[in-house]
Amino acid sequence: MNDIKKDDASQSQDQAASEKEQKHIERQKKIKANVDKRVAQATEERGVFLVITGNGKGKSTSGFGTVLRAIGHGQKAGVVQFIKGTQWECGEMNILKQFDVQHHVMGTGFTWETQSTETDKAAAKVAWEKSKDMLADDSINIVLLDEMTYMVKYGYIDLEEVIEVIQNRPTMQHVIITGRACHRRLIELADTVSEVQPIKHAFDAGVMAQKGLDW
Ligand code: ATP
Ligand code: MG
Repeated sequence: MNDIKKDDASQSQDQAASEKEQKHIERQKKIKANVDKRVAQATEERGVFLVITGNGKGKSTSGFGTVLRAIGHGQKAGVVQFIKGTQWECGEMNILKQFDVQHHVMGTGFTWETQSTETDKAAAKVAWEKSKDMLADDSINIVLLDEMTYMVKYGYIDLEEVIEVIQNRPTMQHVIITGRACHRRLIELADTVSEVQPIKHAFDAGVMAQKGLDW
């Protein structure tokens, strides 16, 4: 008697499991159909303007990761670093320098701490000139302008000129701008915008910037 009850129970459990599995398969089919439809609709090929902004960690690493991705396909990249951060070294650049990457780091000790000095302004101008050269060179597939948002925010680089240069860049060239507080007009102009939100940061718990993780 007990055995029969047990069999009934396990049978209905099996049935529930297979119904669940069936539902899962149906859901996946719907998702796949949706994705396939959207993939079929995306037929255009052109350079993309990407903005990675927000107060969370991961903007520069994302920018450098994308440059690495391009280089992995044998493409040519350009990188301009507008802020050196608290450390002068930058692990990703040590690697990228070994490849076909044009690179410029803004001269002077510009950090978030020193602002509005004439030397910073002049250094920003030089870095922007380098950026413009890259944004006019159709042999460069991807240009990363790391921490450029601050230059626009402080008025070191003219916003209208930035917009014009980005709009007139080679049609197949990708450009990535990273940094907090990205100007609304650049967000409007961009094709893809990601905002990295801080949920937690080890720094707030007293952990200092770690080599290999933060720089
Ligand atoms: P990463 O270079 O790690 O991708 P990021 O580019 O998103 O960071 P930045 O605003 O450029 O962030 O910050 C530069 C430095 O500050 C990095 O060492 C980064 O790890 C650290 N940092 C980023 N976000 C936070 C945060 N919310 N609190 C404290 N430190 C942060
Ligand atoms: Mg950064």
